[in-house]
Amino acid sequence: MRNNFYMAETTGRNSNSQETYAILAPTMIPLLDFGSDGINYNPKFVTSEIFSSDDAAFEWARNIAISNDFKLVKSSWKRGELYLRCNRGERNRGKGRNLETAERPNTKTQACGCKFLIKVAPCKDGEGWNIVLGPEQHGIHNHELITYREGNRQMSGLSLGAKQLVRDMSSAQARPNVILAAVQEQFPEENTNRRHIYNFRDRMRRNDAEGRDSISQFLHLAKESDYLHYIREEAHVVTHAFMAHPTSVKLLRTYPWVIGMDSTYKTNIYKMPFLEICGVTPCNKNFLIAYAFKKDETAESYGWVLDKLRLLLGNEVHPTAIVTDRE
Ligand SMILES: [Zn+2]
Repeated sequence: MRNNFYMAETTGRNSNSQETYAILAPTMIPLLDFGSDGINYNPKFVTSEIFSSDDAAFEWARNIAISNDFKLVKSSWKRGELYLRCNRGERNRGKGRNLETAERPNTKTQACGCKFLIKVAPCKDGEGWNIVLGPEQHGIHNHELITYREGNRQMSGLSLGAKQLVRDMSSAQARPNVILAAVQEQFPEENTNRRHIYNFRDRMRRNDAEGRDSISQFLHLAKESDYLHYIREEAHVVTHAFMAHPTSVKLLRTYPWVIGMDSTYKTNIYKMPFLEICGVTPCNKNFLIAYAFKKDETAESYGWVLDKLRLLLGNEVHPTAIVTDRE
């Protein structure tokens, strides 16, 4: 699997060897990009220092990496050389892997095939170890570097388990601070904060709404449920909305004589007057005909609503009474 992209581009020799490092054409760039900054980090690792052991060289390189916001891990040994990769590269699980030195796979892997790679090699003339740098494309990361150091996690990161917990508790209407406490208790190693919870809940809602804002989502649901609905916008802001269920419209056409309208104020986040429109059956039962939001209480706004009501009624029907709480 590993390096398939590159294999196809090369001459085909070494197709089962470990020498991908050597046969990469210099112009190649990684195919996958996860927010790379395109910077060649190789120069940060230039040193004339001779290290007493491979581990000492690794420690030195690891610290340089940390100071540049990424993590180096021991990847494998090949022909007496230790390969150090970015922790987001794919690990070599093949023959060259030395089970004693390779780090255990991170179970919460963030591997994205990063090609960053340097080597620790024995000095050619005598004792000690030095750092050997590869061609430029092995100095570049294909992903964003760590911006949030705690546990090498991005700001928005929650583990899968924690996300499931947030999802479950959110659908049970739990408040964010209750959710936060639960996540902190069950996943203490994750250092979750309030922001993580809010961010994830936001993302959940947006996914449910497929990117619609709340008023569009409202309309979307109205459409999906076959509500009759009318909207008025002024400068891209919804000022009036009118909605009626088809069954209500049928009832209205059967019993069109008395229509009641009742406003409530400031009961919704838009601070828009909310208008309920009701009909009355001959046996004195009320039924909901429609409801409407409008930006104000002007006669003009009422007129807009009555126009829509007229559309539901049809032109020939004339209610004997329209009862409102106004006039
Ligand atoms: Zn990397």
